[in-house]
Amino acid sequence: MRAACAMIHLNALRENLRRVRELAPGARVMAVVKADGYGHGLERVARALEGADAFGVAGIADGQRLRAAGVSQRIVVLSGHDEPGDLAEMRRLHLDTVVHNDAQVDALAADRAGRPLRVWLKLDTGMHRLGFAPERTREVFARLRALPSVDEGITLMTHFANSDVFDDALTTQQIERFERSVSGLDGECSLSNSAAILGWPEAHGQWVRAGGTLYGISVVAGKIGADFGFRPAMTLSTKLIAINRVRKGERVGYAVTWEAPEDMNVGVAAIGYGDGYPRHAESGTPVLVKGVRANVIGRVSMDLITLDLRGAPDAKIGDTVVLWGRGLPVETIAAHAGTIGYELTCGVTRRVRFVEDES
Ligand SMILES: *Cc1c(COP(=O)(O)O)cnc(C)c1O
Repeated sequence: MRAACAMIHLNALRENLRRVRELAPGARVMAVVKADGYGHGLERVARALEGADAFGVAGIADGQRLRAAGVSQRIVVLSGHDEPGDLAEMRRLHLDTVVHNDAQVDALAADRAGRPLRVWLKLDTGMHRLGFAPERTREVFARLRALPSVDEGITLMTHFANSDVFDDALTTQQIERFERSVSGLDGECSLSNSAAILGWPEAHGQWVRAGGTLYGISVVAGKIGADFGFRPAMTLSTKLIAINRVRKGERVGYAVTWEAPEDMNVGVAAIGYGDGYPRHAESGTPVLVKGVRANVIGRVSMDLITLDLRGAPDAKIGDTVVLWGRGLPVETIAAHAGTIGYELTCGVTRRVRFVEDES
């Protein structure tokens, strides 16, 4: 069996949800579990986060999986209905839809099949991805309200483009545009993603939508989840499977990009981009060998990485090597690989063994 293992810390997930509630008192929490729970496992995360008020998924297929797993909370399909059969399936599974364009409103208008669906009306206040222009809010809201296929409790939502920069004027502007467009409308409001839960308390509304924070990951530049009281929910580890003595001037790995500056020990760990360890992790990216820091050297290959063991003289074959998680923030690894922590946890592949841990 390959040694690569993603340990999912269930209690960290639960504590992170408590921390979100502490930061956004009075708001209900939608736990965003798209992309297989940011790579932690959809059903597993939903079970650990059974205290959430709703789950946010990217597509209907994830809603099907959650209902099959017995999840009874509200489930919001964040990109909404799209194809002809979607509304019937969403009704069957009691999934909420997000409406962000006219074709979706037309589909709801043409739908006469029975029980009303719950709708989240999405406004584009400045991100320019999904949503109606703010000046159309009242017209679309009124049209939806009049449809028998739409439940009367419509939630008004928007998404921030840059809320991880805590003093960015764009977020202030997005909040103002949102408040102006929805004022006087009778509906709950949802604006905040993780970064806004942390940095924009005035935007918490009735529903916050927490993703990264629940997994203990920060998107705020230079910060890690722990800086805000969150614990990592995934520890990715493997084993050291070889230690080689390499002479000064010899080079290591594909494309021979790294040259030994002295006679030294080079470790080989059983993980690579085939497991989701980023190929772009540069020489100098840290790992922990039995708790002691060592650095990746040379190119990351599909199944293996090579390590500078000069700082870990006691390292032995069979030692556990932690790639990220407890003791080694995924944000640090992401910074060395030119990406964000989210992409790394989402990218752990199927050949990695997932193990649940209560702590
Ligand atoms: C992914 C997503 C979120 C969660 O974002 P985080 O930054 O991970 O908290 C919230 N709302 C929407 C619409 C999303 O797509």
